[in-house]
Order: sequence, then structure tokens, then C-alpha cells
Amino acid sequence: MMDQASSNNEHVSEYFNKAVEKGRVSHAYLLAGPAGCGKTGLCLDFARSLFCGEGAQPGCQCAQCRSIEHGNHAGVTLYGPQEGKSIIDIDTIREVCSRSHYRRDHTFIAIIEGAERMSNAAANALLKTLEEPAGDFIIILTVASTGNLLPTIVSRCHRLYLGARQESSPTQQEAGAALQRLVQAGWGTGDPRKILSEMFPDAENSRERAQAILSLLLEWSRCRIESVAPADLDALTAFQEELLSLRRSLDGNVSAELVVEQAVKQAHSVGGLLTSAMVR
Ligand SMILES: [Zn+2]
Repeated sequence: MMDQASSNNEHVSEYFNKAVEKGRVSHAYLLAGPAGCGKTGLCLDFARSLFCGEGAQPGCQCAQCRSIEHGNHAGVTLYGPQEGKSIIDIDTIREVCSRSHYRRDHTFIAIIEGAERMSNAAANALLKTLEEPAGDFIIILTVASTGNLLPTIVSRCHRLYLGARQESSPTQQEAGAALQRLVQAGWGTGDPRKILSEMFPDAENSRERAQAILSLLLEWSRCRIESVAPADLDALTAFQEELLSLRRSLDGNVSAELVVEQAVKQAHSVGGLLTSAMVR
């Protein structure tokens, strides 16, 4: 279980490693992924890579790594709902924000777990701190989905998406190759009905095929996220958000054809960024 979680998260740990290596650590990150996918572990590994003086290898026993692991490091704090409560209230977020001034000269990482549970007042308080980042203060929000967060919070964070990566079967690989050709050629002559009937022949119906197409596009973009230039990161994360929103609309009344058409159009606009991830 742990192994699976960590292998699905490689793109994010690589992204963090590169950010530290190149001294391009951001003030705010948002990690989105299903419960149990290892979000908090990634945050703590990232914290170790900032504090450890010995390379932050897995299982490192230096004082820094051990105190981060034991939850008593002065520069790393995990926040969530107060005991007996289900929401993250404004007092908790006020404490986070006050730390941003208190530790101005030191690196401080505030990890807010399940940030979608913030009350409105708490979210607004956090927004102010995100707008005026101080010193080496780093906020990491973890959420199951970005849908329940204020869009203004989402847009102020560097977003990283986690998810289950599935092994692909030969028919899935064929469908992937077909989708790749379609994206590279642009939408143009593509007929969504034809694509939906030909791709993923094992799928039960067109809705399921559309789901598979969205997942594939999402996976391509995840493969690329650790290696794109910072300037392209926004375009790629915007593309991922578009895919996630299309996936939500599939659960509603929107036709599968329309969703596929939109997804391919969006993919074409970031085609250059996706290209190298398509060949697998
Ligand atoms: Zn260490």
C-alpha cells in the first residue's frame, strides 16, 4: 500500500526536489488528491529536504529529520480542526498567520490538512496571508478536491495533483496512441462520436469512454508537471483543472461527446507541453 502510494506521487516529490535544488520554493502549495494517497507524507518529506543537512535520504536519522518525523520540529507544524470539531476555525488560521510574522527570519512550514474544511472566515483570513507572503514562510494546503475551496485561494497556490496511476493494457495503449494523434492534429476533422465508439472498446458506454479519455489526458499532464518551465506551470495546472471540471460535468447532464470535444481542444492548446509525456 505504501509502495503504491509513493510510486503514484513521484511526480510531486520530484517537483519539490527540483524546487529546493534550484532555490525556487514557492510560498504556497496546494496538494490535491484522494484520502490516503500520501499527501501529508509528501509535505513532511518536502520539509525534511529543506531542513536536513545530510541530503534528507529516506530514513535519515539526523536531529532535524527525527524531530520532523516526531512532530516536534519548531519550523514545521500541522494544522487541522481543533479537537472535537469538524471544521478548521478562524482561531486556527489566525495562529497560522501570526506564525508568519513571528518567525520572519526562519523557514517555517505550515501544513493545513483537509483545507476544504476551513470555515468561510478562516478561508478569508488565510487569503490575506497568501496575498502578503512573509520571509521564508511556506503554507501547504492539502485537499481531496479543490472544488470546495475559494477560487482565490486556489489561484494563489502552486497546485499539484495526486492520483492513482493505473497500469495500461494493450487496448488502452492503442487508445492512448489514437488520442495522441488526435491531440497533435488539433480537433479539426475529429468526430467525437467516432472517437468515442473506437477508443476504449472495453468500456461499457460513451460516458465511461469519456472518463477514460479524461484520465489519460490528466495522466499525461501529471507526467509533465515536474519538468515544465515555471512559466508553463500555470497553463498546465489550468489544463488539469479544466479536465477535473469536465469530469465533474460528466456526472451531470452534459453529453460525453461534448466533454471529449472540449477536452481535446484544451489538450491541443497545451499540446507542446504534453507531447513528451504522450510517448510511454
Ligand atoms: Zn536528515
